[in-house]
Amino acid sequence: MIIGGGIVGCSTAYHLAKLGWTDTVLIERHKLTSGSTFHAAGLVGQLRSSANITQLLGHSVDLYKRLEAETGQATGWKMNGGLRLACNEERWNEVKRQATTAKSFGLEMHLLSPKEAQDLWPLMTVDDVIGAAFLPTDGQANPTDITMALARGARQAGATICEDTEVLSIDVDDGVIRGVVTSQGRIECSVVVCCAGQWTRSLAATVGVSAPLVSVQHQYVITAPFTPEVPRNLPTLRDPDRLTYYKEEVGGLVMGGYEPDPIPWANDGIPHDFNFKLLDSDFDHFAPTMELAMGRVPALQSAGINELINGPESFTPDGNFILGEAPELKNFFVGAGFNAFGIAAGGGAGMALAEWVHGGVAPYDLWVVDIRRFGRPHRDTDWVRTRTLEAYGKHYTMAWPYEEHDSGRPCRSSPLYSRLLDAGACFGEKLGWERPNWFASAEHGEQPRDVYSYERQNWFDAVGREHRAAREAAVLIDQTSFAKFALKGPDALRALNWICSNNVDKPVGSLTYTQMLDDSGGIQCDLTVCRVANDEFYIVTGTGFATHDFDWIERSIPSAANAQLFDITSANAVLSLMGPRSRDILESVTRADVSNEAFPFGTQQMIGVAGCPVRALRVTYVGELGWELHLPVEYATTVYDTLMSAGAEHGLVNAGYRAIESLRLEKGYRAWGSDIGPDHTPVEAGLGWAVKLRTEIDFRGRAAIAAQRTGGVRKMLAGFTCDAEVVLLGRETIYRDGERVGWLTSGGYGYTIDRSIGYGYIRNPDGVTADYITAGTYALEVGGEQVPADVSLQPFYDPTNARVKS
Ligand SMILES: Cc1cc2nc3c(=O)[nH]c(=O)nc-3n(C[C@H](O)[C@H](O)[C@H](O)COP(=O)(O)OP(=O)(O)OC[C@H]3O[C@@H](n4cnc5c(N)ncnc54)[C@H](O)[C@@H]3O)c2cc1C
Repeated sequence: MIIGGGIVGCSTAYHLAKLGWTDTVLIERHKLTSGSTFHAAGLVGQLRSSANITQLLGHSVDLYKRLEAETGQATGWKMNGGLRLACNEERWNEVKRQATTAKSFGLEMHLLSPKEAQDLWPLMTVDDVIGAAFLPTDGQANPTDITMALARGARQAGATICEDTEVLSIDVDDGVIRGVVTSQGRIECSVVVCCAGQWTRSLAATVGVSAPLVSVQHQYVITAPFTPEVPRNLPTLRDPDRLTYYKEEVGGLVMGGYEPDPIPWANDGIPHDFNFKLLDSDFDHFAPTMELAMGRVPALQSAGINELINGPESFTPDGNFILGEAPELKNFFVGAGFNAFGIAAGGGAGMALAEWVHGGVAPYDLWVVDIRRFGRPHRDTDWVRTRTLEAYGKHYTMAWPYEEHDSGRPCRSSPLYSRLLDAGACFGEKLGWERPNWFASAEHGEQPRDVYSYERQNWFDAVGREHRAAREAAVLIDQTSFAKFALKGPDALRALNWICSNNVDKPVGSLTYTQMLDDSGGIQCDLTVCRVANDEFYIVTGTGFATHDFDWIERSIPSAANAQLFDITSANAVLSLMGPRSRDILESVTRADVSNEAFPFGTQQMIGVAGCPVRALRVTYVGELGWELHLPVEYATTVYDTLMSAGAEHGLVNAGYRAIESLRLEKGYRAWGSDIGPDHTPVEAGLGWAVKLRTEIDFRGRAAIAAQRTGGVRKMLAGFTCDAEVVLLGRETIYRDGERVGWLTSGGYGYTIDRSIGYGYIRNPDGVTADYITAGTYALEVGGEQVPADVSLQPFYDPTNARVKS
């Protein structure tokens, strides 16, 4: 059952029917396209910062190219290419980096001089243009026609489409979808895919599902035909420094923009009769955009304006759309919140949803658009709206590396927030949590404020001090935002050992670093499991993965197993005490024996500190001696103060997440969401040592891993270093012996080794082995330039052989 007959619903019906789901029914409350689709401008761009989303948009292009021939319905598809301008050095840097990203992802993108760009787009002035990028396979389509073609294709493949039928409610009985009640009667169904555009949030909420999107007004003008007419093969044009975009439209132009002060719509609900409707044109609000555009295209000054379209569209707090099965309700899928690129994404999103429904997991890693990336703050629509308006206003502003959101903060904070603020913390935000990124020192004349750059940023030295303190003395890091779960019950061990690829059947007090795999061996979760009792486990995972990992574990518990999962994130604060002096500090505040013999690596104990029962975990993500101290939140300030005062004589300082990143890069620890994820197996990621293949214990994904062990792999994660001056950010292209073989999944700088560091998969269809990797000569392409790089399969930082920067 697909709800909604816009481009996304029709594309999902098309792909499901093609997969053989011929009992698919699409229900549309009014007529097909009557939501946001009919008034879209129709630009189809492809390049995004994620390889897989770029691939998904590429699927749209491949589909749109052939759809007219396949269905006999015109689509208006024209592959005229897309131009993107850069009008200052910073933007040019960004565009050059994007060109490298495109190359990494196998997308053709050329850098052009202003003159070359003007030759392709003669209507524009280029006095202020420094350079441009051209993607020959971008294009444009007629949104209504392309949706009609998808609907026709869906019907041809066996799907049923019902217009003028409204879904009034969804029948759920004890967590199982039974059917939907429509204005024409009840229809039984077991799977619902909600593609109801801006109606999705309220409809999903009726069954307890959070789909954080809000409606925002978006405007563009349609001009009368120019004289002489605008050439029909004009590429689309994006002029981000002037916040505007253009496409050819029957001899004239469509021009729209992303204003910095967007106007939300329907804050109290969408009027019931809002179909095929537009909002009143807001010429005053559009005037600054028009002004900017006239500077680029002088002919606009005298062009006749046929219409100023003002259409509402659903936008999300992070500018990405929402796909996937809702964690709150089995078999309820969402495909919505397309942030004004639903025409570009529609073809691929429908494919992904259909495959997801069909196969039970996403066809490839879609984490950046996965509905499970959201969490508690996203249940508050006002908070979502505030953040979404910020994201909308930043649509065309520079996409800075490490950029943080400003709005809706602080939202969730640890009890240490004020103390860290007083200590000079510059906070970042994840899933609503305030987290210290770095600490500014007044003594060094620093302000706790990020100044973004594609070069080394203003926090570079401060992070370096924290990094060195972690390597040479000790640091305390507030990691309270970690997601924490408890799994309890007589079958907890059996269930968890099935879900985890590492063996968690160890004595009480043991810690296990483990992945959780899908049937293909893809890494769905990467976390630490702590056995706290015979029938109880304490599970710790990354802040941003709270919803995702909880959902994965809960759904993976075998139905017959008696084991219950609880989210206890808010109960415990976490202080990570790391560094060679951490034992000296810890032993001065506790009576517990924290010697290596009594408290070895990979174990946990309850210890007392300042009257607080602390669960101390001997682990590290920074490559140093250390403990994660998990404690009831009400003790957080007491324990923090105790440790800081005891640590003063040992050089203990506060540290933040940017130091963690630098430290973990040196040590080769993988990050889920970048270095590892569902597209990678532990064998490919160099984590085969953490898989219990040597035991007889069955676990999910075992067969896939066993097959890779014998059959080999076609990609393998490797580490790279290059000159310290080269700024690595991730997505740089990897060359092996002059051949493009992959891209960096993460990039950064290691202060101890004084080298830039990156990780990325080296691919070869004929197979990749450690010897193959080390036999190659490597270069990385960074912003269009190739730089030599050294490869390694070992950590770059080895404490016994540390090259410490003087
Ligand atoms: C001014 C403007 C310009 C744009 N330009 C572009 C562009 O150039 N390129 C681009 O890629 N994107 C563009 N977009 C974005 C694009 O229009 C949308 O992202 C896309 O149309 C979203 O499609 P959808 O299927 O998700 O939603 P919709 O088209 O809104 O479809 C949802 C459907 O669900 C139906 N529905 C809702 N509730 C129910 C119910 N209870 N029962 C049954 N049916 C229901 C609605 O009637 C509606 O038809 C633009 C948007 C705007 C506003």
